[in-house]
Amino acid sequence: MAAGAADRRDPEPGPAGEKRILCVGLVCLDIISVVEAYPAEDSDTRCVSQRWQRGGNASNSCTVLALLGAPCAFMGSLAPGLAADFIAADFQRRGVDVSHVAWQPRGDVPCACCVVSAASGSRTIVLYDTNLPEVTARDFERVDLSQYKWIHWEARNAAEQAAMMRRVERHNRARPPAERVRTSVEVFISKDVAQHFGYRSAPEALRGLRSRVQPGATLICAWAEAGADAVGPGGELVHSDAFPPETLVDTLGAGDTFNAAVIFALSAGRSLQDALTFGCQIAGRKCGIQGFDGIV
Ligand code: ADP
Repeated sequence: MAAGAADRRDPEPGPAGEKRILCVGLVCLDIISVVEAYPAEDSDTRCVSQRWQRGGNASNSCTVLALLGAPCAFMGSLAPGLAADFIAADFQRRGVDVSHVAWQPRGDVPCACCVVSAASGSRTIVLYDTNLPEVTARDFERVDLSQYKWIHWEARNAAEQAAMMRRVERHNRARPPAERVRTSVEVFISKDVAQHFGYRSAPEALRGLRSRVQPGATLICAWAEAGADAVGPGGELVHSDAFPPETLVDTLGAGDTFNAAVIFALSAGRSLQDALTFGCQIAGRKCGIQGFDGIV
């Protein structure tokens, strides 16, 4: 099961030569307990249901891309063992390409214990993610960039990821626009990150962060029930309201769903406004169901 370096090869492009979308980041095991209401500390309660789910931001985004029908691939680290067997089987079930998974000889597969409250739809996450080495720029050298139309990085080990991005920039410089690989780096600034910087709304966060990004970049900020806002390359501001489901059931992975749907739409040539609206629609649908089956 564990592929060695020599076996890592990019598969042929998707059906009809369609280029793939690559998501680089975390995969982990999510052990999810759905509870009627969030429990008090030091209490002992029964949950309504429990499930194992493949999780991690980049990994969830791959699930959603696959469900939307986009050929996609995941790049991240795993270490052989029971958790990795479960994860690899689930990637396969969804049709996500894993030829660039970096199999590490040591370290533990990250695991998240998640409590989803049926009363509010909230998700509380405790992640164990301590000792598994990250993928490196060296691992990324093996990726045949000509097979991909979009590469998304879940911001993690900054120095290595910056080197990966420089490689894509060099690749793009030598090619006409139609053959360039488009990139995103948690350009999707989550509400948590924006609040950490002291912004109280998505438009406020966008205005504040715009000067920090490269000219020509698009900045997108999702804000839970307030939907999402974006500022395009020309400075245009775009907004989409959220599409709340009838009942809020499970918001675990809403942001990853939003990211995937936006990338899917933008990579298909749709406008920023269309992509934002589509992202909120699909993410809203996700919030109304447990897990990801049923978002399309
Ligand atoms: P995360 O916390 O997973 O990063 P966000 O809170 O940023 O996710 O939400 C991402 C997108 O999911 C939002 O832009 C919105 O479209 C949708 N969403 C999230 N929470 C809700 C909600 N309570 N009601 C409706 N849509 C929601």
